[in-house]
Amino acid sequence: MSRSHTIAVLAGDGIGPEVMEQALLVLDTTAEKFGFSINQSAHLVGGAAIDATGSPLPPETVTACEKADAILFGSVGGPKWENLPPAQQPERGALLPLRKHFGLFANLRPGVCHPALTHASPVKNELIPNGFDVLCVRELTGGLYFGEPKLQEERDGETVVIDTMIYTKSEIERILHVAFKAAQGRDKRVCSVDKANVLQNSVLWRQTAEEVAKSYPDVELSHLYVDNAAMQLIRRAPDFDVLVTENLFGDILSDEMAMISGSLGMLPSASLGGQKDNGLYFGMYEPSGGSAPDIAGQGIANPVAQILSVAMLLRHSLGEEEAAKAIENAVENAISSGLRTGDIYTGSEQETKVNTAEMGAAILKAI
Ligand code: NAD
Repeated sequence: MSRSHTIAVLAGDGIGPEVMEQALLVLDTTAEKFGFSINQSAHLVGGAAIDATGSPLPPETVTACEKADAILFGSVGGPKWENLPPAQQPERGALLPLRKHFGLFANLRPGVCHPALTHASPVKNELIPNGFDVLCVRELTGGLYFGEPKLQEERDGETVVIDTMIYTKSEIERILHVAFKAAQGRDKRVCSVDKANVLQNSVLWRQTAEEVAKSYPDVELSHLYVDNAAMQLIRRAPDFDVLVTENLFGDILSDEMAMISGSLGMLPSASLGGQKDNGLYFGMYEPSGGSAPDIAGQGIANPVAQILSVAMLLRHSLGEEEAAKAIENAVENAISSGLRTGDIYTGSEQETKVNTAEMGAAILKAI
């Protein structure tokens, strides 16, 4: 019997639907080629859902996601919904509740600067002659963003604010396991990032990293303080393989990595929940960038991040590794052949400027 998978497709706003169209074409072709079937259904999320139903995350959308093996997400938000109260805004009202509902605790953000795109990076080219390929593994459901108490109050005539950084050892262990397992499929090096010289949280983090590392003798573990990590990423990004860190540090470092990679339009991301008995994860897969309102509707967005999100989905949630690799190779092929959407185009003679559909078609052809 042929393999069958179910995914919920949430294209969202801005360039979301434009790049999603290309990603779904790639998914269909890959499924056909590698002999599995995909049941996909599209659902409202973000601003589009607010306009249609009044809510950025309608219950029907959540129900559809619950029935799926994975969520393929586009992007949400835009100027039209910017003035709504924070909790009703597309990002806050859809992304955070989805992460919470599905316990998506592990955020995987590849920071890849393709060797042919080093010119797009703000880092001096002599520091990244062959680009780089770093995977940032960020804890996504703990730490300062969710810790209680979280409040503002008046004390003795002074306004006081409190955020709480809290982690349990098991939360730290499970994210470290994700990082070490990911490293086993890569260059087998994990750099754990903390602030153990100042934070009690980080002292436990570092101890736990040392303990978890014992289960992965094939993987080398190193540690960096977060301030130093921020500097070293710029000075020597090619030296890193997998970075693992807690929520706040990961939020900042993964954005720094996206910036030095050159184009947000090239970078996918995965947010994973618990691991199932078969080793696969329920996950939500989306581009690292947002809805890019400045170029939405023009058909010029780079579809690569959304297409590579499909590759991550196939790998981590559906166990279709061969199909995932085929997509990654096809993207590599399109970039190596000189095709460039506007965000990565420099005007050099070796490059051909293409739009969203043309880039998608070239990747499809390479598959
Ligand atoms: P953004 O990532 O949307 O855009 C930043 C810059 O990167 C823009 O110049 C944009 O054109 C460019 N860019 C992003 N993706 C691209 C692509 N695929 N191809 C070519 N260029 C691309 O960030 P922003 O401008 O800060 O936010 C815009 C909206 O997106 C806001 O409403 C924000 O809340 C929302 N947002 C959503 C998500 C999400 O859905 N996960 C993430 C970040 C921002």
